[in-house]
Amino acid sequence: MLVETHCHSAAFSPDARQTLEELIAGAQARGFEALVLTDHYDKNYFSDGSTDQVTPLGQPPEAGEWIFDLDLYADTVRRARADFPGLLLGIEIGYRPELAEALTPFLAPYGFDQVLGSIHAIMGQDLGARRDHPLYDLPKQAAYERVLEAHLDMVTSAFRFQVMTHFDYLTRYAPYPDPSITYAPFADHFDTLFKALIERDIALEINLRTRYKSFDQTGRDPGLCDPAILRRYRDLGGELITLAGDAHQPADLGRFMPEAKAELKALGFQSGYYFKAGQPIRYAL
Ligand SMILES: [Zn+2]
Ligand SMILES: [Zn+2]
Repeated sequence: MLVETHCHSAAFSPDARQTLEELIAGAQARGFEALVLTDHYDKNYFSDGSTDQVTPLGQPPEAGEWIFDLDLYADTVRRARADFPGLLLGIEIGYRPELAEALTPFLAPYGFDQVLGSIHAIMGQDLGARRDHPLYDLPKQAAYERVLEAHLDMVTSAFRFQVMTHFDYLTRYAPYPDPSITYAPFADHFDTLFKALIERDIALEINLRTRYKSFDQTGRDPGLCDPAILRRYRDLGGELITLAGDAHQPADLGRFMPEAKAELKALGFQSGYYFKAGQPIRYAL
């Protein structure tokens, strides 16, 4: 079964280059049975990279702010279900610690199937927006530890969500000679983070966009991720894995999905998951 647990449409995500109609047509053409639309909701983040204009959740979007009208979004998804019954209502929250208390009650009335918790910004700046991000002044070990700690803060906060996205987001942008993340140098950080995820039934996402972006830049397939990371997650009792194409344009949908499924099976995972009404749905890889 083919499932896309993380994808974006241009009407709601400023960096997407596809309409919801194109996304659905692509999903039907490639045989996807379920698709969770997860447009970007990065409160107090602006297209020019600024984050210093801070307003509370619930305010209408300011010009350039990466948020949208949630009523319109939920209606759009529900109407599109007539064309594609496998379409689910998700959202990708760009987490900021100051939002932790307010996020869950704010989102509750919309009945999201699947909420993604993402760390895009650290030290008040998106990790992908600038090569001269102050985090990258730190040695790689310290910078990556800091990012894993930000994920742990999110997972253990009052914010309730179903999927922790792309823990390797910064490897797409970090200027270190080898930006990849492996288990061994961060073993304690991964262990603490995975235990926190497992205790809370939050799924670990495998983000294929990190992989195909690297492939497109270097011509080399970096593979799924360090297998030691996933083996350790499984050994600690981790079962909830979501496979995410994080498609932003029509050509992204389904890229490296067959390879990733085979690699996960080889590591001992039999199932992938997505969420409906907040509950995990299992499918065979
Ligand atoms: Zn993201
Ligand atoms: Zn995304």
